[in-house]
Amino acid sequence: MQEVKKPKKPLIYYYSIVLIVLIVFNFLLMPWVSQQRIVETDYGTFMTMIEEKDIGQVQYNEEENSILFTDKDNTTIYQTGIIPDPDIADRLHEAGAVFSGQIIEQASPILTFLLTWILPILIFVGLGELMSRKLMKSAGGPNAMSFGKSNAKIYVKSSEGIKFSDVAGEDEAKENLSEIVEYLHNPQKYKEIGASMPKGILLVGPPGTGKTMLAKAVAGEANVPFFSMSGSEFVEMFVGMGASKVRDLFKQAKEKAPCIVFIDEIDAIGQKRDGRIGGNDEREQTLNQLLTEMDGFEENTGVIILAATNRPESLDPALTRPGRFDRRVPVELPDLKGREAILRVHAKKIKLGENVDFEKIARMASGASGAELANIINEAALRAVRDNRSYVTQADLEESIEVVIAGYQKKNAILTDQEKRVVAYHEIGHALVAAKQTNSAPVQKITIVPRTSGALGYTMQVDEGNHYLMSQAELENKIATLTGGRAAEELIFNSASTGASNDIEQATKLARAMITRYGMSKEFDMVAMETVTNQYLGGDTTLACSAETQARIDQLVVELVKRQHEKAVNILLENRDKLDELANYLYQKETITGEEFMSILNR
Ligand code: ADP
Repeated sequence: MQEVKKPKKPLIYYYSIVLIVLIVFNFLLMPWVSQQRIVETDYGTFMTMIEEKDIGQVQYNEEENSILFTDKDNTTIYQTGIIPDPDIADRLHEAGAVFSGQIIEQASPILTFLLTWILPILIFVGLGELMSRKLMKSAGGPNAMSFGKSNAKIYVKSSEGIKFSDVAGEDEAKENLSEIVEYLHNPQKYKEIGASMPKGILLVGPPGTGKTMLAKAVAGEANVPFFSMSGSEFVEMFVGMGASKVRDLFKQAKEKAPCIVFIDEIDAIGQKRDGRIGGNDEREQTLNQLLTEMDGFEENTGVIILAATNRPESLDPALTRPGRFDRRVPVELPDLKGREAILRVHAKKIKLGENVDFEKIARMASGASGAELANIINEAALRAVRDNRSYVTQADLEESIEVVIAGYQKKNAILTDQEKRVVAYHEIGHALVAAKQTNSAPVQKITIVPRTSGALGYTMQVDEGNHYLMSQAELENKIATLTGGRAAEELIFNSASTGASNDIEQATKLARAMITRYGMSKEFDMVAMETVTNQYLGGDTTLACSAETQARIDQLVVELVKRQHEKAVNILLENRDKLDELANYLYQKETITGEEFMSILNR
């Protein structure tokens, strides 16, 4: 799609116009006004000129104590002071001077007034008017001078516009949105039955799942103009500016209807108005204006508002009520099939070698968002260029997943022999506990090559398909697997290291969720002790219980993790010889695959 922007003249352009006008005024107009110049001179010159009879007119101004006189040809006017000189009148008469009442011709007072007062004022008022009009028109970036005009970018239809086919996976979202496309193509059909399109549609989901892409694709499919603006762009320096931007955006949209208005990150203006002291007045006013505008335009005008957010729970209820954003389209992280499709879409842009197995890559990249998958493909292409190859191989793709997940390989991180052994046992500990518990997914790959993210090694587990539900047993096994690394260290070296901090964090989080949110403890039954406040951004939680209950929750969490830790230790004890064998193998090879691991285990 093409972005249409009005060319903007820089501010310096207007400043130079002002400067030129000032120069013209001072150097051409002012001398013209004060055409008749007066030359100051001394009394001696006056006397000499009388003696030489080079004198034209003379005028005495007693009040100002000055004499004005001209030379014989009246070309220059001179001025000097009055000095007591008894026979001056006679000498002047002799010299042929003419006694004059008024030597200097005064310019007409009205003209002087006009030129010195009115004209400059008129020029400046005119220029001010011109500048402010230009600035308003050139609705540029967020700028205190743009006086509340919306700076929505307009995308117009073009042959290379994004289409639904460019957005892989997300079939439910596409199906939902294709109704909008249908409506924009043929609004009459809907009007005839009396059906009305929702005014606003909210796309919610984690970052990088293609919300912006979907909105653009709707415009691309429907071939209508696309206004795009981010929520934060509304919030301006001055209170009231955001509101006027909203008004302007809607005015523009109505003129261009049918069209799509897309507001990205709407939570920047749409947050709950909680009436806290010191709240953000500007944001609230902007939100109020948005609510009013959405109420203001009638249904079926052809303006459809799409908005995206990853914090739907923080939106003001007035915004999400029917009649405003009454439809909510979830855009979730892609599942296995979706990931494969996204990889294929992005792989079209690069040259691939043979035998690239997208399904395997998709399996390995479990939990990755669309943006991350696009990044994986690009990293693989970059790796191929670094290796001077003209195509991308399966190995490039697999390595780039690790780069995106764990960072680049650290080239010169030197682990001591003992550290390397500890890391090898730690990782095999995880893998062995995972493999021995029937419900845990087998490992895909184990490596002890340090990464730039700080990981000294990691175990990549295979995602065998899509899990929508997890049972209590599965969750417990997961905790046991997480404790497996530390358990192996304790068993072999009889000491603990700092390498397990991330495992500990994850295990605690899981155990806590089981007790406070999933109702998996006998004691609390089906009572929620915690609520998730930030579903798509890390899943922060807030506690909703008394201090005593909190203390009890902590106890239960510790007990649960402890039980699983013991279980992991027992599994490793039972398989002590395999643990040693596998750890030694990993220590030597540094990276082993899931198949190698399983074949040693099952030997
Ligand atoms: P969001 O608005 O949800 O944060 P975007 O729509 O900006 O995410 O997506 C960011 C990038 O990720 C896109 O430019 C695209 O390259 C890639 N992407 C995300 N989801 C998909 C998808 N479903 N199909 C293809 N590419 C995707």
